[in-house]
Amino acid sequence: MRPRKILTAGLILALMVTGGAYWLLQRPLPERYQSWLKERVVLPSQTPGKQLTVTFLGTTTLLFSDGRNALMTDGFFSRPGLLSLLLGRFAPDTALIARQLTALGVTQLDAVMPVHSHHDHAMDAPEVARQTGAVLLGSDSTRQIGLGAGLPEQQIGVVTPGTTRAFGDFSVTWLDSPHSPVPPLIARLTGNGEVITAPVMQPATLRDYKEGQTFALLVEHPAATILVLGSAAANPEALKGTQVDGVFLGVATLSKQPSADQQALVKTTIVQTGAKWVIPIHWDDFTQPAEPALVPMPTRIDDLLGTLEALQEQLEVSRSEDSSSPHLALLPMRGQVQIE
Ligand SMILES: [Zn+2]
Repeated sequence: MRPRKILTAGLILALMVTGGAYWLLQRPLPERYQSWLKERVVLPSQTPGKQLTVTFLGTTTLLFSDGRNALMTDGFFSRPGLLSLLLGRFAPDTALIARQLTALGVTQLDAVMPVHSHHDHAMDAPEVARQTGAVLLGSDSTRQIGLGAGLPEQQIGVVTPGTTRAFGDFSVTWLDSPHSPVPPLIARLTGNGEVITAPVMQPATLRDYKEGQTFALLVEHPAATILVLGSAAANPEALKGTQVDGVFLGVATLSKQPSADQQALVKTTIVQTGAKWVIPIHWDDFTQPAEPALVPMPTRIDDLLGTLEALQEQLEVSRSEDSSSPHLALLPMRGQVQIE
């Protein structure tokens, strides 16, 4: 081939690659989901005088606090980038975790509770436990992450479906819950359906953080009863008879599920539990920094607007005649649900 032809072919290829990447990685502009975002959602307490604040910290990390006790789901802050996830080993960013805890005013936590052992839920939990004195509570796979990170054995507790632990006015029950379905290649990369059987030495690879047992958490407090679902799937048996005031619903990949599955999830977790409010979590791209603002996943990978619209529609369809549909809102980084 003549140099000019090679140059032309190279240019066309570069254009195709750039165009393809642009098509694949486009995200919804903030103004498209701005109307869903609420810095603060204020809801009435079930017990006069009892208050509770839940702060959203990206992915499925939530800080529950009633002024006396504080609990955190996941405690995931490091958010390693896509290249690190696919090609390398990554470790908790201890300085970033310290800055985030300081910004929240958290010096002490009773417990940090990963909903399963994938990196975007459990990788930082031992470091959060170390910095706050919290006990790390999770599956045996999560325990292996804690041990690998050098957390003392007495600061780790293994829970199984049905375990309940009390912290002041809080009572937390771990319920069995399935992981949301993921494509076979991703499932292999992330050890879906697999357990961790030896301490995970950090830095570690994506595949080292195998799923382990996935839980839904039922957080009971005099102010409110709250269900936390980290992954967009539910076990109807485990939730049978459970009544809650509100749900934090993990929505990652929900837009890729068939409409019938979306409806079943709404029915099991929101309609049958009598929830009066729903806050989608795991809506942000966890390979991107949380500051200055959380950003949604690229639309081709997970369609946040589609998810919100589908949720709203299904909530309206499924509401009973004598009640209004549950309140649906998206929280930004450090957005809060205040129950007072
Ligand atoms: Zn996961």
